[in-house]
Amino acid sequence: MTTDDLNGLYQQLILDHARSPHAKGVLAAPTASSHQVNPTCGDEVTLTLEVRDGTIVAIGWDGHGCSISQASASLLSTLIEGVSVAEATSLLDDFRIALRSRGQIELDEDRFGDAIALNGVSRYVARVKCAMLPWVALENALRPA
Ligand code: ZN
Repeated sequence: MTTDDLNGLYQQLILDHARSPHAKGVLAAPTASSHQVNPTCGDEVTLTLEVRDGTIVAIGWDGHGCSISQASASLLSTLIEGVSVAEATSLLDDFRIALRSRGQIELDEDRFGDAIALNGVSRYVARVKCAMLPWVALENALRPA
């Protein structure tokens, strides 16, 4: 596959997640939540979590904005549903390092699955905030009160 084919595939994956998002709709009784706004692009994400005994047992989110921000929220929810808070925090740390690397560090496919479609975003500094928005919401939601 050429690089152009691969870019097209990743672009399609992002559009698919933006159009048919996973876990869209906030939880009725979350144990943690966070609302984040990216004013430079107009993106908004509200993330709600149900955390039981250190595990994220349910996730739901709502939002609007560009395809990258909404696809990132959908991809995030596929990754952290059912994982421990420690694992979610580790994913968050690695996601941030890759997205802020300006294309130098790529997301590990074994850990991030389809979310590696967001790798290309790290080359566009203006779009990094879009992809990070739901992850910032996750960080704030998991922060001890
Ligand atoms: Zn955006």
